[in-house]
Amino acid sequence: MKDQPREILKTIFGYDSFRPLQEEVIHNILSGKDTLVIMPTGGGKSICYQIPALLFPGLTIVVSPLISLMKDQVEQLSELGITAVTLNSSLTPDQLSANISLIRQKKARLVYMAPETLLKEGTMELLSSERVDCLTIDEAHCISAWGHDFRPEYRRLISVRSRFPDMVCVALTATATPRVRQDIQESLNFDSSAEFIGSFNRENLNIRVVQKASPLAQTLAFIEDYRDHSGIIYCLSRKQVDELSGILLAKGYSVRPYHAGLPDMQRMKNQELFIRDDIRIMVATIAFGMGINKSNVRFIVHYDLPKNIESYYQEIGRAGRDGLPSQCLLLFSYSDIYRIKYLIQDHDEQKMRVAINHLDAMVRYAETDLCRRKVLLRYFGEEYEKENCSMCDNCLTDHKTPEDITIEAQKFLSCVKRTGEIFGIQHIIDVLRGSKSKKIERFHHQDLSTYGIGKDHTKRQWQHFAHQFLHKGFMTQDMEFGGIGITPEGWEVLKGKVTVTGNILPEKSPAFTAPKNTGMAEPEYDPELFDLLRSRRKQLATEADVPPYVIFSDKTLMEMATLFPQSKESLLSISGVGTMKLRKYGRDFLYLLQEYCRRNRLEDKAASSGRESTLSGKPTGRKRHQAIGELYNAGKAIPDIMAMFNIKQITVLDHLFTFFTEGHPLRNGSVIEGSALSAKEKKTVLKAFDKHGVEFLSPVYSSLNCSVSYEELKILRLYYLFQQQASAPC
Ligand code: ADP
Ligand code: ZN
Repeated sequence: MKDQPREILKTIFGYDSFRPLQEEVIHNILSGKDTLVIMPTGGGKSICYQIPALLFPGLTIVVSPLISLMKDQVEQLSELGITAVTLNSSLTPDQLSANISLIRQKKARLVYMAPETLLKEGTMELLSSERVDCLTIDEAHCISAWGHDFRPEYRRLISVRSRFPDMVCVALTATATPRVRQDIQESLNFDSSAEFIGSFNRENLNIRVVQKASPLAQTLAFIEDYRDHSGIIYCLSRKQVDELSGILLAKGYSVRPYHAGLPDMQRMKNQELFIRDDIRIMVATIAFGMGINKSNVRFIVHYDLPKNIESYYQEIGRAGRDGLPSQCLLLFSYSDIYRIKYLIQDHDEQKMRVAINHLDAMVRYAETDLCRRKVLLRYFGEEYEKENCSMCDNCLTDHKTPEDITIEAQKFLSCVKRTGEIFGIQHIIDVLRGSKSKKIERFHHQDLSTYGIGKDHTKRQWQHFAHQFLHKGFMTQDMEFGGIGITPEGWEVLKGKVTVTGNILPEKSPAFTAPKNTGMAEPEYDPELFDLLRSRRKQLATEADVPPYVIFSDKTLMEMATLFPQSKESLLSISGVGTMKLRKYGRDFLYLLQEYCRRNRLEDKAASSGRESTLSGKPTGRKRHQAIGELYNAGKAIPDIMAMFNIKQITVLDHLFTFFTEGHPLRNGSVIEGSALSAKEKKTVLKAFDKHGVEFLSPVYSSLNCSVSYEELKILRLYYLFQQQASAPC
């Protein structure tokens, strides 16, 4: 019995070892004790109740707030050969009765449903005639009014427990402050000894917060580095979502909007496109994401400030579920604080106070110059031990020590005073900078002593100061009209009794680029092979009508492209390949792997090295591309090299490309002569490289309607690189 969970982990899920806490949680549940599991998104909560569900003789009920979430879980389980069903309002009568009979025939191991469904008398009757061993409550923070996503019907779940007194109860969530944790346990009548709190540290997330200066340009610069990857851009308003997604679309990005204002069909379609890798970027309000288990989201941009840390953490948590390095960028501006304060105004005072407190914590996080991991983790009651995480902006950049900005504060406040405490920030800045605007003339503000005393700073710098003064409480802003007034603290500054420290924005925003020296190395794998595996996965996913990550995660494919498994046994040793997946997809992937490895003379490292070498290991034994690169540079023509090594042209091209990507220059030879394309066709292909980059060929291939062969693409890719090489400044 003791080793059964481990065996299931390996044979069914295809994983070698448990992640932290999973095994303890599973044993706790199996011994019939109520269990609260707090783990970050991507931490591996599902396995914690799914493995017990396979070992219990009876049924496991899983309460989940969203239909998409249930659907996703059922799809993933079915790919693993596990029968799970949902009961929900979106099912047709036929589907519903098919699912009910799977429960009655004891074939279904798990049944997913929303709390409302479970609480219905009809459902209770159905379940009363079954043996139910476990009630799992997913997203359990919804039970607490102290959380950020309170759902009253969750609180009624306690009644289900009394109907099934022998059933063990498991509550899982990714976001729960100590107060919410206590609330969950009390609401469900838990024994406090059964609490498992995983680390909230998501090591693979690179976290950054930057001043929002020109958000569109900043976002464009950021996503440019991830053209071929999936990501989500969160905005505060629907209007912003529509606008931004329109702009990105016009710029050639593969993107769709998502917000509650879109028709249901449209929204579902867009979500489906994203999940299935048919589009790359989702621009969305916070309405998007819960219920998305897509594991290969590589970046999250917060175009606007999130309302609280819980949501922020949950949203960034949607990146990198597969464990691969992923980027999170928050564009922070003080003006967002006021937008949000406006939005969270509520008649219910207590509710509003909770919301304001949450927002304040979010702002403190955004403003901190401490390690962001430390601050986030502390918020969730965890101490981060390391001094420097090397995966957040504050740890990666030199600390900006706050500067003395007392003079600026005095200038600004004095100008507010002299203009009568009725004007907004823009006008005050115009006066300070000596603008000749009509409004200034109309009010004769050019005659004030503060007119033109702020020319030493740019408009943007003054805006940044003003937001800091507001935030520090030296002035208030009328919510309705934007007029600035001075607070008692502000008067102290004016009288010279307090020193003000803060940040001075650089005159020009620095160019925005992805961080280079982060603490986590990009895994080294054969990108060409990865690309092929990915295309194959997409085909299979389309045939099976499931999202690609349900078949294999990116991480699993990368491991294949690193270890080159070429037999069933080796393939089974890849993380994420279990017996069912091997049976279903083994042949397809093995065929591709064997063929590719044969052409490139790659040995099976999964077989020889066991599991030691993982994604962090560099591929070895690939000296051939070096030899070929050097021969080519020494003047050998491609046909000569083909003859010397007895390999095809396409293989030589692959080797040269690898050689080049390792940083070796290549002689600008006559590669292009090997192409049979017309001049016009060549031009089209080169343009496609401009658009899609050269790293992966499948987007280029698809963009040309699959009309140009991979061999031709590889010839033109080299030619393209030669041109780039020639035009690069040295
Ligand atoms: P959560 O529900 O906590 O957000 P999931 O249960 O969806 O996380 O797990 C996230 C990813 O991690 C999934 O792709 C899952 O298959 C994978 N995973 C879970 N447990 C393990 C494990 N022990 N070893 C390797 N991968 C795992
Ligand atoms: Zn850090």
